[in-house]
Amino acid sequence: MFGNCLEIVMKTCLFCQISQKQIPSKVQFESGEIFAFDDANPKAPVHILIIPKRHIENVATANSQDKKLLGEMILTAQKLAQDKKIDQTGYRLVFNTRRHAGQIVDHIHLHLIGGKKLGQMA
Ligand code: AMP
Ligand code: ZN
Repeated sequence: MFGNCLEIVMKTCLFCQISQKQIPSKVQFESGEIFAFDDANPKAPVHILIIPKRHIENVATANSQDKKLLGEMILTAQKLAQDKKIDQTGYRLVFNTRRHAGQIVDHIHLHLIGGKKLGQMA
């Protein structure tokens, strides 16, 4: 029952389809569990989205079984920041979670934003 629901979600979810390369993206990193690609509407010179290939809706629905995956997302952001040479100047990592935060894609994603001085957060 739940297995089938997840299959349906993964067929229709934008970021599941991007990680399965059914929808094109500018890939920045890929491993067995993680996928990272350029944001289509960048807010800064570097704006990369880091996602797990496995569908998780957001931080609010993640659980202790997702600990390793969540850690890998953050360490992937760290590595990409080094690759893009923004690790010394600094960068912002953001998990928008549900509507008040402006989450529009319901597949957990970590924004890596940098390459310029960023404004204050709301
Ligand atoms: P959020 O508001 O946190 O849900 O962020 C979703 C992000 O996905 C936004 O910054 C969008 O610009 C980005 N986005 C939406 N569709 C695509 C796409 N097809 N390829 C790359 N980025 C996308
Ligand atoms: Zn998904």
